[in-house]
Amino acid sequence: MAKIKVYNNDTNRMETYYRGEKEAMPYVTNRTLTVGEFRGSSKSPTLWTEKRCMQAWNSQRYAFGAPIPVGYAFKRPWEGGHSNFSQHYAGLAFDAGQTLTVARRAQLYTSALNSNVWSYVEPKSLTPTWVHFDKRRRDSSLLNRRFSYNQEQFKRLICTYSARLFKYIRI
Ligand SMILES: [Zn+2]
Repeated sequence: MAKIKVYNNDTNRMETYYRGEKEAMPYVTNRTLTVGEFRGSSKSPTLWTEKRCMQAWNSQRYAFGAPIPVGYAFKRPWEGGHSNFSQHYAGLAFDAGQTLTVARRAQLYTSALNSNVWSYVEPKSLTPTWVHFDKRRRDSSLLNRRFSYNQEQFKRLICTYSARLFKYIRI
């Protein structure tokens, strides 16, 4: 039995559900995404996501018109992940289509792009054996941008500092 925290974007409240691994995720219609599929290999007793993300899944599943195998969705930070993993920590991203044929996976990729329900679909070149799509929150993408900006500033600071240090050593 997993404890699932769902942020309800309509009421601005956190909801808590207790569901078995073979049961559907909250707000998912027709059991197209089970708790076990959402969890993937994560061992976390608590999972979290947002209502908006589950609704995006429903739309995506409808647009694709066939079952979508999900290898991974939720991950804790220490459970690893690929380059764009941060949205998996928030429970807002899917790595899907691992067991599909190359041709079907390409169709899933196109369907995810065209469905217009995702904030981001990772380019095929970065995801050779899966399709990554996520429903990031606007504030988290702003936070990411701010973080990369700070990283740039940090690099510049290190450069300035090393230059000064180098000068000092030479003297
Ligand atoms: Zn991913």
